[in-house]
Amino acid sequence: MSTQAIKTQIEGYSEIQREIQVLRKYAVDRSAGRGEVARIINQLHPKTLNLKISQIRKETSSATTFRLVSQDLYLPPFQAGQYINLFVEIGGIKTSRPYSISSSPSQSGYYDITVRRVKDGFVSTFLLDRVKVGDIFQSTSPAGQFYHNPLFHGRDLIFIAGGSGITPFMSMIREITDRGLNRRVQLIYGNRTVDDIIFEKEISRISAYHKNLTIHTVISEPDKGYKGLTGFITGELLKNLLGDIDDKMIYVCGPEAMYTFVLTQLKELNIPQRKIRVEIFGPPADVTSQPDWPESAGTNSSFNVTIKGKTTIKTRSGETLMNSLERAGVVLEASCRSGECSLCRTKLVSGKVFQPASVKLRESDRAFGYIHPCMSYPLEDLEILI
Ligand SMILES: Cc1cc2nc3c(=O)[nH]c(=O)nc-3n(C[C@H](O)[C@H](O)[C@H](O)COP(=O)(O)OP(=O)(O)OC[C@H]3O[C@@H](n4cnc5c(N)ncnc54)[C@H](O)[C@@H]3O)c2cc1C
Repeated sequence: MSTQAIKTQIEGYSEIQREIQVLRKYAVDRSAGRGEVARIINQLHPKTLNLKISQIRKETSSATTFRLVSQDLYLPPFQAGQYINLFVEIGGIKTSRPYSISSSPSQSGYYDITVRRVKDGFVSTFLLDRVKVGDIFQSTSPAGQFYHNPLFHGRDLIFIAGGSGITPFMSMIREITDRGLNRRVQLIYGNRTVDDIIFEKEISRISAYHKNLTIHTVISEPDKGYKGLTGFITGELLKNLLGDIDDKMIYVCGPEAMYTFVLTQLKELNIPQRKIRVEIFGPPADVTSQPDWPESAGTNSSFNVTIKGKTTIKTRSGETLMNSLERAGVVLEASCRSGECSLCRTKLVSGKVFQPASVKLRESDRAFGYIHPCMSYPLEDLEILI
């Protein structure tokens, strides 16, 4: 195939060509002054957004959608699958949690986030129980790498979701239907019970008229007599439902226990790593049960963390360093809170921490002793530099 023929297959190629023609015709000097590019980028993608809750919709008994509109009359565009990090202050503690945008990027007037209650969860409980229409929040601009790139990922996609992990997929599915995009999607959506299925009516409705979207829900703790698919999302189930999946791009999103299990199943099916994209929904529910958690660390210790030249705070074992810092009033810059974005990277002067294998530490971080406090668990007294 010629280069030109390949180019014309790229989504949006003809639109870009048209734009280039127009720019050539009305050519003006577009060289930018010093700092101008940064200024424009900051305008289009501000560091902080001021948002107001405009609607609250209960999806299931444990999940609620919050519609957020801009206080500044502008919301940055995003890629379906990206998240915002929502800042909150609860009982005097300033913290944040990332939430994937569940609405379609074609809806530029609002972002929906859909939050599921985590038992004893600090922020999810606050959002579900205390937040009302009109409340004001700040957040980061949309961020994250969990989105579909038609150039590299093809058009044949498998989405594997668990519980609240449906949210980035909902945005992608809504975008496909809103914009009539040429993609074939097979969604496998696992939940504990039928009542836990978020967006059930909407996804069934879409799949009923959209021949390119197939949906399989899998229930792990079904009621007696339940007729649908049951159990966990195993390799065998995937093979049976999807047939040959070697040439498809697989996206996985859900709680840590779910995606860890699904990834081992995909490995057993010999699916190459480059065909799998994963979104990690925050720290593990119980870090002490991670396979490489050091036995000697225990689960009930307390350590001192000295912030060099400033103060010393207490930490609890099994809790992230970032949470302990925030409880003591020390707020680090953060976006993903799952060891990916590197915004919170901090110099560890002395002491040891545990960082789960999923943390994306750079080689230079390892070499020069930097850690990601959002996914670092102290194993002894520490000294850090902030
Ligand atoms: C990129 C990204 C996108 C996310 N998108 C969504 C979303 O769209 N909807 C949504 O509901 N959540 C989403 N999350 C998870 C969310 O950020 C919070 O982690 C979640 O709301 C729990 O916060 P919490 O303060 O209530 O719990 P915490 O007080 O932080 O945690 C309480 C306990 O529950 C554990 N825990 C934390 N999160 C989970 C979880 N997801 N499942 C099981 N146990 C957990 C903790 O380890 C701890 O033991 C996303 C996370 C990331 C990193």
